[in-house]
Amino acid sequence: MRFAPAKPALTGETLESLTALLKAQGEPAFRAKQILDWVYKKRARSWADMTNLPRPLRAWLDATFALMPADLVLNQQSADVTDKLLLKLEDHSLIETVIIRVPQEGVGLDHSRKTICISTQVGCAMACVFCASGLEGLKRNLTAGEIVAQLLQVCYREDARTPRAHAELASFDNIVVMGMGEPLANYEALLRALTIVNADWGLGFGARRITISTSGLVPKILQLADEALGFRLAISLHGATDEVRERIMPVNKAYPLAKLLPAVKAFNERHGRMVTLEFILIEGVNDSLEQAEILRDIARDLHAHVNLIPYNTVEGLPWRRPALARQEEFAHVVGMSGASVTLRREKGHDIDAACGQLRLKTEKGIAAG
Ligand code: SAH
Repeated sequence: MRFAPAKPALTGETLESLTALLKAQGEPAFRAKQILDWVYKKRARSWADMTNLPRPLRAWLDATFALMPADLVLNQQSADVTDKLLLKLEDHSLIETVIIRVPQEGVGLDHSRKTICISTQVGCAMACVFCASGLEGLKRNLTAGEIVAQLLQVCYREDARTPRAHAELASFDNIVVMGMGEPLANYEALLRALTIVNADWGLGFGARRITISTSGLVPKILQLADEALGFRLAISLHGATDEVRERIMPVNKAYPLAKLLPAVKAFNERHGRMVTLEFILIEGVNDSLEQAEILRDIARDLHAHVNLIPYNTVEGLPWRRPALARQEEFAHVVGMSGASVTLRREKGHDIDAACGQLRLKTEKGIAAG
């Protein structure tokens, strides 16, 4: 049996690219904005919903694009603060998008702040030894349309729970690119997607509320520093010395700390925003107090914030998190002399928190300044 080739996703088009395609069809330029309004502001779920478009145009759109390239197949809600959306792509690949609700005083969970964790690849090629996402290698990059679609699916879900106060608003407060995959290894699609998410004709979502997390692809960090949009950067450090980092992150061979740290500094100087250093604590691997001291010096030098994340056990892998006392001791040492640090506690255990390596947590401030 032959399958028809998948149609490109409308969610991968920019105002510019869609205008050009419509122009080639003899359509007036204003149609592109009208269509994108239906997608991002009015959240149309079918072509038929787009009632101010002429019928032949709707037929052309239907023949040309997939309106939504990711189907929601499962919505697992945890008893705590996380919500996991399992999405199926047109080639039947599965990806996960997670909604993390951060409880706030005096408001119900529906009105709490929401951080959305999105994926950029199916699988991952980085082969970090502790991570579930890399276990089977990289299957493929996500397209820009598939990256944007994750956020639209979250909007559909959130709009159904709490109607939006303003039609112009996205339905969440922060985006973290920390799901499956190495975002900077899919640079072009990521940047196109985030441009669409940021644009006023798209989701209108501020770049400063978007954090990109990388295992440390130095040339791409430098490229990102040159982008006009000022995204936030998080580095998966996980080792304060090459010796420790190299044992758990193969990427450290190509980009050891002597290359990585100056790149982070360059990014920081360019954007003037605090970079986050993520450090998962793995018992007997990187949780010595000597590592904590070196990490503190690195953080101080970079004016970076340190996020300590107790390792989330992955079935079939031997790694464990250190005891709570050691986690707190480690955090204390990092926090000494003014480095900014938080120790996180995980949330979402009851929805199989090992969704790839998505880490679902609330923050527990330990020490700052
Ligand atoms: N590839 C990017 C983004 C995806 S990983 C990166 O490396 O930053 C998001 C974060 O989850 C990374 O810091 C990663 O190291 C961490 N992580 C992976 N497996 C984990 C686990 N089992 N427990 C806790 N954090 C994990």
